Amino acid sequence: MRGIFTLLVISLLLVTGCSRPAQDAYRQQLFAFGTLIEITLYGVEEKRAQQAVQAVDAMYQRQHRDWHAWQRGLLMDLNQAMAAGKSIRTDPSIIQLIQLGQGFERSSGGLFNPAIGNLLMLWGFQQDDAAQGPPPSGENIQRWLDSAPSSLQLHVDGQLVCSDNPAVRLDFGGFAKGYSVGKAVEMLQQRGIDNLIVNAGGDLCVRGKRGDRPWRIGIRQPGSNGILASIEMEGPGCIFTSGDYERFFEYNGRRYHHILDPRSGYPADKTTSVTVVARDPTLADAAATALFVAGPDHWQEIASHMDIQDVLLLDERNVAWLTPALAERVHFEQQPAAVEIVQINP
Ligand code: ADP
Ligand code: MG
Repeated sequence: MRGIFTLLVISLLLVTGCSRPAQDAYRQQLFAFGTLIEITLYGVEEKRAQQAVQAVDAMYQRQHRDWHAWQRGLLMDLNQAMAAGKSIRTDPSIIQLIQLGQGFERSSGGLFNPAIGNLLMLWGFQQDDAAQGPPPSGENIQRWLDSAPSSLQLHVDGQLVCSDNPAVRLDFGGFAKGYSVGKAVEMLQQRGIDNLIVNAGGDLCVRGKRGDRPWRIGIRQPGSNGILASIEMEGPGCIFTSGDYERFFEYNGRRYHHILDPRSGYPADKTTSVTVVARDPTLADAAATALFVAGPDHWQEIASHMDIQDVLLLDERNVAWLTPALAERVHFEQQPAAVEIVQINP
């Protein structure tokens, strides 16, 4: 997620006062979900911009508290109740995330699995601090595989939730950031703000425009601070990346990262990064994670099921796989080992 950053050369005129020409930008940074969130608003007077950003900040702080899988809060209460085989009343926002997560688990054929919390914990990726290793024993991984948790084992009745399987432990890490970027955009638009960027650590949505130039978004070269490619975005859109360089540890000379393949219990190992461009940020976020797990041999199939048209996948051999729609808008700043443009079958 933190893999992308904007290339936008924004003229930030942080002038005070009320009237400002439409292209001037107001920029504020917030911190939630362990990520720096940068909000840029164009053509909005300062006071109104400040109030809007404050409202977004309050929403982020609430979500951070409610949806954290590993700190005391609503999601942890739900996870504990399910582990104890009890049903529990929870918040509508969590119900909505459960239902979205179930949809992504279905459409990704189980490669995206929001019930993967216990496996993340085995690997130590639940901590805010970097995981250290060692990797879990093969026995523990097998035990997790045998427990076969799935979000589809959850039952929702109004606000009441229960699970058929006590091994289900929800973790929204693969798509909550996308969902909340979407909510932030919605809030800003409801306040009449039409030209904006919400950038959560490199994963972002743009709406409207900045003057008459298209947006250009830079994608980080995995393992460096350089830029792999830039993508032009016309009109409203979101761009989300999942990379193996985001969270990982090294142990005995091997690298283990945080995107886990629910079929093996191990980090998905054929992909380096996946960037998805889509109108819906929640879908873009979940799809980037799912296609990462699918890898260079199967991503087309999963992209088709998830209804994703714009993909850039970089594999372990530094081959860039692209959909034709995205290929037209990508400019490589560093040439990959090869570029494969592949049609996605509907
Ligand atoms: P980022 O760390 O940049 O947010 P992703 O969007 O790819 O990256 O999300 C990775 C997170 O998703 C992990 O930290 C974990 O919480 C969760 N996760 C890991 N593997 C899976 C998976 N197979 N299905 C669903 N969620 C996953
Ligand atoms: Mg994701």
